Amino acid sequence: MKIEIATLFPEMCEAVLNESIVGRARKAGKIEVSCRQIREYTKDKHRRVDDTPYGGGMGMVMQCEPIYNCYKAVCEDLGSKPHTIYMSPKGTVLNEKRASELSEMENILIICGHYEGVDQRIIDKIVDEEISIGDYVLTGGELPALVLTDCIARLCKGVLSDDVCFTDESIYSGLLEYPQYTRPEVWEGKAVPSVLLSGHHKNIESWRHEQSLKLTEQRRPDLYEEYFK
Ligand code: SAM
Repeated sequence: MKIEIATLFPEMCEAVLNESIVGRARKAGKIEVSCRQIREYTKDKHRRVDDTPYGGGMGMVMQCEPIYNCYKAVCEDLGSKPHTIYMSPKGTVLNEKRASELSEMENILIICGHYEGVDQRIIDKIVDEEISIGDYVLTGGELPALVLTDCIARLCKGVLSDDVCFTDESIYSGLLEYPQYTRPEVWEGKAVPSVLLSGHHKNIESWRHEQSLKLTEQRRPDLYEEYFK
């Protein structure tokens, strides 16, 4: 799959995308992610991409034209229209299910807003869906776009070593994950639960499941209820 990120801060995105699992997956060709500088697509001689809002008010609004030119360039390079997402606190809140659906798509374009956001007319013209990463407001769409990209990328074939790496995790499995432990066996007087040292796989599995159920009931009664439906 290919993800294009349209942003005013491509270096900020690249810094994150070059690291860790996503960085390795990009290098190995398991997933393609590239960033486009929206400013490259303005015809303004000062490379301006924003202006004051009609009707007055605080801040600046990103203009349609540079984003539209960027979108057209992406379409031309891909040879088709990508599924286009605008990161916005007004969007539908991201969850694992939507990320999983998006991971099946061939091409995705993510648009990052800044300042007061983007002119509504560009949303109406090219955006297929608006996605929020939660009920809080950030200064720009770059961190949300990176959250979305990371979440989609780890669900793509070959990015993690095995599908179990994500099917067994919190949320995807329908429950919160059991507590994890590693060496040493005793740390600051606290021992690892003895069942995990027993080598008895069936007992370990049922202990973990029990812990998952307990934790989910305590912290996420909504998920707990859904799990038993
Ligand atoms: N004026 C906008 C509003 O009240 O809805 C907020 C604009 S915000 C300061 C600037 C940009 O950050 C947005 O255009 C969006 O791209 C991004 N952004 C901020 N919070 C976000 C969130 N929770 N989820 C997704 N994107 C967000």
